[in-house]
Amino acid sequence: TNIGAAPRNYFSSNEHFAKSAMARYRPEEFVKLVEKYGILYYEKKLGQLFCTDSAQRIVDLLEGECREAGAEIRLKTKIVDVTPLERPEGTGPRYRIVTETGEIFAESVVVATGGPSVPKIGATDFGQRLAAKLGLDVTPLDAALVSLSMDQKFTGRFGGLSGVSVDTEVSVGSQKFRENILFTHTGLSGPVILQISLHWFPGEKVRINLSPDRPMEAHLMAAKKEGSQKLVRNVFGEFFTERLTEKLCEEFEIPNTPIAQTADATLRKIAERTHRWELIPAANGGYGKAEVTRGGVNTDELSSRSLEAKKHPGLFFIGEVVDVTGWLGGYNFQWAWASGTAAGLHA
Ligand SMILES: Cc1cc2nc3c(=O)[nH]c(=O)nc-3n(C[C@H](O)[C@H](O)[C@H](O)COP(=O)(O)OP(=O)(O)OC[C@H]3O[C@@H](n4cnc5c(N)ncnc54)[C@H](O)[C@@H]3O)c2cc1C
Repeated sequence: TNIGAAPRNYFSSNEHFAKSAMARYRPEEFVKLVEKYGILYYEKKLGQLFCTDSAQRIVDLLEGECREAGAEIRLKTKIVDVTPLERPEGTGPRYRIVTETGEIFAESVVVATGGPSVPKIGATDFGQRLAAKLGLDVTPLDAALVSLSMDQKFTGRFGGLSGVSVDTEVSVGSQKFRENILFTHTGLSGPVILQISLHWFPGEKVRINLSPDRPMEAHLMAAKKEGSQKLVRNVFGEFFTERLTEKLCEEFEIPNTPIAQTADATLRKIAERTHRWELIPAANGGYGKAEVTRGGVNTDELSSRSLEAKKHPGLFFIGEVVDVTGWLGGYNFQWAWASGTAAGLHA
């Protein structure tokens, strides 16, 4: 989980939807459960809690809670359909669940099938397709918390820096994150790019501040004022590694002139690009590597208190299948715990 998880850490077409469930099951509740099972944990950074030994301990915890509640767990049982049943007498099961190995009849169904991100570990869009089949609106799905691929011009220039990371501030619209970017063969990655990918839509500009703490303009102007005979590129490069400087000089068309003889306007332009490097990614890195799926069952279709479908009493959608997507860093698990608890209390 993330000890700071709050509704503002989620992307949804209704920014208020997550508030109710999250207020009733806070990260502290989950931490208490972790402690009850004697699981050791630590804060890695920015409120992100990790198990000291293995994440398997959390799987054991979840299994333990299920067994304590008398749940029967059926593994390797693919669900192929869920259909609401007619109940002329108003009693009896409300849903038929069709699995590959038989049918199950139930009063309530909680759909927790996540999204299609990382299909090789069993992820599917079954829940979203089921919702659509039952007449619920589903917002557009896309991969998120994933790298961004860039066009050939960019990869031709920066692809060779694959593995180089830089502390930056990256923004899309009004969303801004501060952490490292990582150059890759196909474009950009690193924690800050994964964060921003949640807020990025195709065609939008991503703005990168390559020097969030040190103003480049003051640095260049100070060198000019001193009458320095250093080349602009060398003064500029004092903020970056040699390899990155070389590529940025090409990108920003930094002249090969002594700084004392370089026009103020040129230096200002270099500084502006340093703090506001605007790029339009070609695409996101796709479902294969995305940590989450953005979009899902439209929150208008669900009760924010219980996560029950308004059109289908007894049918609940929780976790990633819903159009509530968390930032990178434990927020998606906290939404899964909170929404699951809300549904569990009503199902
Ligand atoms: C590589 C990776 C790393 C991540 N790291 C983090 C992290 O550090 N912190 C964090 O908060 N979040 C992280 N996430 C996101 C987080 O795992 C999910 O948001 C969260 O698990 C969602 O929970 P869920 O119960 O909604 O769905 P899931 O955990 O995705 O579970 C859905 C389950 O439904 C099953 N399923 C799908 N279709 C069917 C079907 N037809 N029949 C039967 N079963 C089906 C799937 O096999 C899967 O087991 C990560 C995700 C990935 C892929």
